[in-house]
Amino acid sequence: MTRLLLGPGPSMVSPRALASMSQPLLGYLDPQLFEILKKVQQGLRQLFQTQNEVTLALPGTGMSGMECALGNLIEPGDPVLIGAIGFFGERMVEIARRYGADVHVARAEWGKPLQPEQIQAALDQKDRWKLVACVHAETSTGVVQPISEIAHLAKSCGALFVMDAVTSLGGLPVKVDEWGVDVCYSATQKCVGAPPGLAPITLSESAWQAIANRSHPNRSWYLDIRLLWDYWNEKRIYHHTTPVSLFYALQEALKMIEEEGIEQRFERHRQVASKFYQGASALGLSFCVEPEHRAPTLTSLHIPEGVEDAPFRSRLLNEFGIEIGGGLGDWKGKVWRIGLMGHSCQTDHVKKLLQAMETILHGNH
Ligand SMILES: *Cc1c(COP(=O)(O)O)cnc(C)c1O
Repeated sequence: MTRLLLGPGPSMVSPRALASMSQPLLGYLDPQLFEILKKVQQGLRQLFQTQNEVTLALPGTGMSGMECALGNLIEPGDPVLIGAIGFFGERMVEIARRYGADVHVARAEWGKPLQPEQIQAALDQKDRWKLVACVHAETSTGVVQPISEIAHLAKSCGALFVMDAVTSLGGLPVKVDEWGVDVCYSATQKCVGAPPGLAPITLSESAWQAIANRSHPNRSWYLDIRLLWDYWNEKRIYHHTTPVSLFYALQEALKMIEEEGIEQRFERHRQVASKFYQGASALGLSFCVEPEHRAPTLTSLHIPEGVEDAPFRSRLLNEFGIEIGGGLGDWKGKVWRIGLMGHSCQTDHVKKLLQAMETILHGNH
């Protein structure tokens, strides 16, 4: 049975994008491959809503994006502020520590966004900040953060702003240039519609300068953005073997986004999510996040009293072929996470999910 992937990722991939991967391989210096990479760059600039020249896709999943963004900017001792509101924000904290930053954290309770005043209060505690980083849509809770305000505060004190757009890029507006995001990264398997294995990333001129001015090279060789960029720019210097088939799929997925229209795509995510909200409420389920802070791409629901998490989700998977996510960290065993992203985000999938949930929760009618 084909799985309906309605969890926090990977999401489903369209037959078109899947089929594209069965094309014969190209060498990593083949001009035909460079044509594909150029189209991928153009598509990514549109999705990120940026003019940034340094826009590419890293070989690796979303975590490679997180590590690349932080690792290239941070030098030992750099003061860094992370706005953490869940599991992925905490990973930023951990990575920044490993790269030797002087890490400060502004936290909000799980299920809530950060208040810009909290960020301001944290920023007031030091004269100089290297960077401020936070997650746009926190996948452990389904909260969207007030990014443009946070980015503005970061810029006002001269810090660079880093944003994780893993669960937003391709599903809700990500406006890198307008918001003033210096480094933004994502992953291909959530809202973009391609398989896992690539991490789109884009860097502003200021971020690039900060990296060029480092006093020591990045500790990670594989994720050194300057080495990576020397393959994407006209130098075409070998760094690693390009995962060619994944780029076929990403190119196809980006083509499909262009055909659908970016605004229409966001509208589809909003509408399908709102169908799900209605249906879930009708089943008596309650939401972990207030409507105004909810990401359309990921919804967390409280597991109803008397229902056991693991048996429920295995019935959903084994009897209905539907995958949803359980809770992470503090919310393990307490919530379900439903992802409606990219190709998974369809009204028909919502209907199937609600019917299956109803059958398991209330028995057959
Ligand atoms: C999934 C996710 C990641 C990590 O991506 P992987 O592809 O699993 O490495 C990072 N940040 C957020 C917000 C995510 O949802």
